[in-house]
Amino acid sequence: MTSLYVHVPYCEQKCFYCAFNSKAGSGYDDRARFVDAVTAELHRRRDRRPLDTIYIGGGTPSVLEPNLLDRLLHAIADRAGLADGYEWTVEVNPGTAVEAVMPVLAARGVNRVSMGVQSMDPRRLKEMGRLHGPSDVVEAVRLVRSHDIRRFNLDLIYGQPDQSLADWNEDLQTVLALNPEHLSLYCLQYEEGTVWTERRRKGVYDSQDEDLAADMFHRAVAATAVKGLRWYEVSNFSVPGHESRHNGVYWRNEDYEAVGPGAYGREGSVRWKEIEDIKAWTSAALDGSTVRMEEEVLGPVEDYLDLLTSGLRTREGVDLEIVHRKTGLDVSDSLQSHLKSSMESGLLERDGSILRLTDSGILLLDEIVLPFYEALDRR
Ligand code: SF4
Repeated sequence: MTSLYVHVPYCEQKCFYCAFNSKAGSGYDDRARFVDAVTAELHRRRDRRPLDTIYIGGGTPSVLEPNLLDRLLHAIADRAGLADGYEWTVEVNPGTAVEAVMPVLAARGVNRVSMGVQSMDPRRLKEMGRLHGPSDVVEAVRLVRSHDIRRFNLDLIYGQPDQSLADWNEDLQTVLALNPEHLSLYCLQYEEGTVWTERRRKGVYDSQDEDLAADMFHRAVAATAVKGLRWYEVSNFSVPGHESRHNGVYWRNEDYEAVGPGAYGREGSVRWKEIEDIKAWTSAALDGSTVRMEEEVLGPVEDYLDLLTSGLRTREGVDLEIVHRKTGLDVSDSLQSHLKSSMESGLLERDGSILRLTDSGILLLDEIVLPFYEALDRR
């Protein structure tokens, strides 16, 4: 496999909306043991082809001390080398010691940084449990640029409690002034086990206003277009040519290696999940026992629906002929009237065998794909 995801499961502090598999309060020894475990695990994986796309996420990779981060990056590059024109992304939190981390990333050949900004409003950042302020973001971006890393992504969250369209617009304009080549704009999801979900359950926060969230998305489409960015996937906007190649691997259902607690990987028709518990994963990797917790063999129906759904999330759309070739399935003939009415409503476009959602249809993905699920269920 030529794509690799590594999950670093540590954070300085748990953000109030976050359900990712990460833990605050680890010590240096835990983190050093984890880096040893990733190194051991990487050496055990069979495939030795040079890596074309790498993504180190989490958690907060930049919470690792520079010497540990350096060991981790070295272990990855050393395993099989890097392919020509590789893309190597590391998530960097502006609330961590970015000044110390950046020289390590640059020296090891990392060429893309993704930064969790989430908001540029200091009051809102506090409410989210974030440790950084807006000035930390500005400084972190300056540091990324000064290390000649030319590609960076900033993440923002919209649809937050009490967030107005004007608040969102302010966030957008402030981050766009930093001239990112790429933005990931996520609509807030209330996930189980988070502080915010509990607050909503107790009535501290109102239910999310879906119409307002849709207006926020469309506001983002307009504001980013002015700066030369366009949405190419429902949550991702970029200057043409700066799209995330690693995420493209996921969206096309291609194979990728995954290493780390709770990480998902895929090889052929097998999708696996690694052990979620951080200590258990680390011990298994160091002992040389399996780190896989679950394996699922995907059949043609799952593949069809995955390819359809992830393809329709992108501006490129989905080529039904390719999906047919990969899965042996084709239900579009039986859905002619659904496709026709979606096109007449301006939600969907068809160009030969390619189906794509329009700006108006992109947020109605679930409704558009539902008849496909029903048609395949009936088989
Ligand atoms: S949002 Fe990022 S920094 Fe915050 S807890 Fe989740 S993984 Fe950690």
